[in-house]
Amino acid sequence: MKNIILMGAPGAGKGTLAKQLKERFKLVHISTGDMFREAIKAGTELGKLASSYMAKGDLVPDEVTIGIVKDRLSQDDCAKGFILDGFPRTLAQAEALDKLSNEINRSIDVVINLDCDNKELIRRISGRRVCKVCGAPYHIETMKPKVDGICDLCGGPLFQRPDDNEEALKVRLEHYTHDTKPLLDFYDSKNLLVSFDSLVGAEPLFDEVSLLLHKI
Ligand code: ADP
Ligand code: ZN
Repeated sequence: MKNIILMGAPGAGKGTLAKQLKERFKLVHISTGDMFREAIKAGTELGKLASSYMAKGDLVPDEVTIGIVKDRLSQDDCAKGFILDGFPRTLAQAEALDKLSNEINRSIDVVINLDCDNKELIRRISGRRVCKVCGAPYHIETMKPKVDGICDLCGGPLFQRPDDNEEALKVRLEHYTHDTKPLLDFYDSKNLLVSFDSLVGAEPLFDEVSLLLHKI
């Protein structure tokens, strides 16, 4: 059983790696971004609130985000181990997670950080396309689908996330630097942090991280 936090800037490859690890290690994948996008699709109150922040690249308020993670992490299936992808993103979220994971006896085993330089992050995000049906990620230059605009896996249409535009991305990167990056020190001081170079590419990265997870 492994409880993992994935950290890294937008575009560092958290989502791709999380999906690979979920399959290999049979873990529950908890992506706060995906949860918000599902709420938006379903037209719920949570979705309306989240989209007003997400569209601009801003963070959804802590109390809302902490609330949905609390509910999700407390569910039974998380006992087999989980990957937190995109949470925590602020110190308040990290502290709330600390408290919660102690309370429910699901402590974090490792924090995996994906390093990536800004130029590459911008290149990845601006060319990113996502399957509307299954969420599989593509890139218009480096991860093209076999048929233009169509998902290889499920045949769904590909689209560009509304927050993958230049303006929102700038705000997202600023939030990463100011709000999220300081968490690396927080977890390093707990001896939980392991950093990987995301520039090696998705497959080599997955192999390196898998090797680490087999050891813990
Ligand atoms: P990325 O890592 O590419 O920015 P995500 O799908 O993780 O994409 O997040 C998309 C958006 O969802 C964020 O820009 C933010 O508005 C919102 N969001 C996701 N996770 C959190 C979080 N932990 N706290 C606050 N807002 C969040
Ligand atoms: Zn698909």
